[in-house]
Amino acid sequence: MSAAEKSKTLKGETGDWEIVIGMEVHAQVLSKSKLFSGASTEFGAEPNNQVSFIDAGFPGMLPVINEKCIEQAVRTGLGLKAQINLRSLFDRKNYFYPDLPQGYQISQYKDPIVGEGEVLIDLKDGETIKVGIERLHLEQDAGKSLHDQHPDSSFVDLNRSGIALMEIVTKPHMRTSEEAAAFLKKLRAIVRYLGTCDGNMDEGSMRADVNVSVCRVGGYEKFRETGSFKHLGTRCEIKNVNSMRFVAQAVEYEARRQIEVIEGGGTIRQETRLYDNKAGETRSMRSKEEAHDYRYFPDPDLLPLELDAGWVEAIRKTLPELPDEKKARFVAQGLSAYDASVLVAERELADFYEELAKGVDAKAAANWLNNEVLGRLNRDGLSITQVPVSAAANNAIIVMVADKTISGKIAKDLLDIVWTEGGDPRAVVEARGMKQVTDTGAIDAAIEAVIAANPDKVEEVKAKPKLAAWFVGQVMKQTGGKANPTAVNAALKTRLNLPDEG
Ligand code: ADP
Ligand code: MG
Repeated sequence: MSAAEKSKTLKGETGDWEIVIGMEVHAQVLSKSKLFSGASTEFGAEPNNQVSFIDAGFPGMLPVINEKCIEQAVRTGLGLKAQINLRSLFDRKNYFYPDLPQGYQISQYKDPIVGEGEVLIDLKDGETIKVGIERLHLEQDAGKSLHDQHPDSSFVDLNRSGIALMEIVTKPHMRTSEEAAAFLKKLRAIVRYLGTCDGNMDEGSMRADVNVSVCRVGGYEKFRETGSFKHLGTRCEIKNVNSMRFVAQAVEYEARRQIEVIEGGGTIRQETRLYDNKAGETRSMRSKEEAHDYRYFPDPDLLPLELDAGWVEAIRKTLPELPDEKKARFVAQGLSAYDASVLVAERELADFYEELAKGVDAKAAANWLNNEVLGRLNRDGLSITQVPVSAAANNAIIVMVADKTISGKIAKDLLDIVWTEGGDPRAVVEARGMKQVTDTGAIDAAIEAVIAANPDKVEEVKAKPKLAAWFVGQVMKQTGGKANPTAVNAALKTRLNLPDEG
């Protein structure tokens, strides 16, 4: 077993176990109106202000498909490198719930609009994993029951009722909590790049059902070789997990729980569980025996959905450059795979980087962005869209370092100044005399001053050439950080008679 494989196992009392994870992600379609009605989808309206007769399930109302939602599903499918099914069907999924006035949800069952695809995820150790997509189908969202508005009544808000959701189902191709969280993050990046879902997990625009099972080491490999699920353990489904962190925590907890049950002589029953993020544990909601029989049947109010191949191709032509392609381009420009994957994770960050990196060394630009810009954003609790110093201004600073107008040290001070006070970096450098000193006369004078003040160190450095760095530091201090360090190094070596190496 390779080290990477080994890191995917969990130790139990009776031996090692593997975790297997598959996900069903509900992503709300970005569209002004709902899947089958013209009511608005805007978030945060007063309850029941965005409800048509269709969304309220009035008898005799006829659903009318919203072309924009179809286009968004196809766009997402193309972004997932998936098969687009030119013919798909809408089915009724029947169940009773107070926030589902129709008594059924219109969904797609046997014939979804999008078939198999794939998502690549980058892990911290540099490994890239391919997660298979099983399908993507369109369905209506339900309304919301409000239990905390009144001491002895519950209310129903139908604003969400009928909003288009994409349910994206993966194959069970994830093996660790890190992979599960990374998958969700990557999927969110893709739909955001595509503009098909805003990915706001705290507003519920994206939520994940996480399926977890455990099996003995080797089971997953046999499953991948044969395609037979019998090599995997029985899964439990953890419903509606709404952040990457909770996905990771829920997987960790659930895998441990299952191992303990099996090692204690019990068996895992297929069931639906809830993740309680306060207690940090999953709890049973209902077992498979209690699961609904939804009595799916084709919705008689809706014709099969037939797409024109030319229309699909026209959508394909409008796809933006997606994270994987952007990453490949950044790597070709000289970035490491890891740096590139961090930069493309958010489209705004990638755009910022590209402007900041114009005409300068890619690696230097990425380092500046990571260490200086993102470091300060992090410190100030800001996101890239709130950055106080524009990409162009950062670019000007990097250019000044590259052409030796200012030193790397001064560049950081300069960023601090424009970060808090604003202003044009070049003008600030002029106005405050921050230009780098390459004038050897001034550097020599600073060296003499340092030597005169530290005669003992001059003796020491002869024995310990490593001390030269201390001298460089002192000379830099003497010049207010403005001396060119390369010039200082060279001048010191000559003056102190130091060997070239060390
Ligand atoms: P259902 O139709 O009952 O919802 P699916 O076969 O569609 O079941 O699977 C639902 C999800 O569960 C998919 O994401 C799939 O990858 C995942 N899954 C299936 N079997 C397992 C397993 N043994 N362990 C982990 N995940 C699994
Ligand atoms: Mg399912």
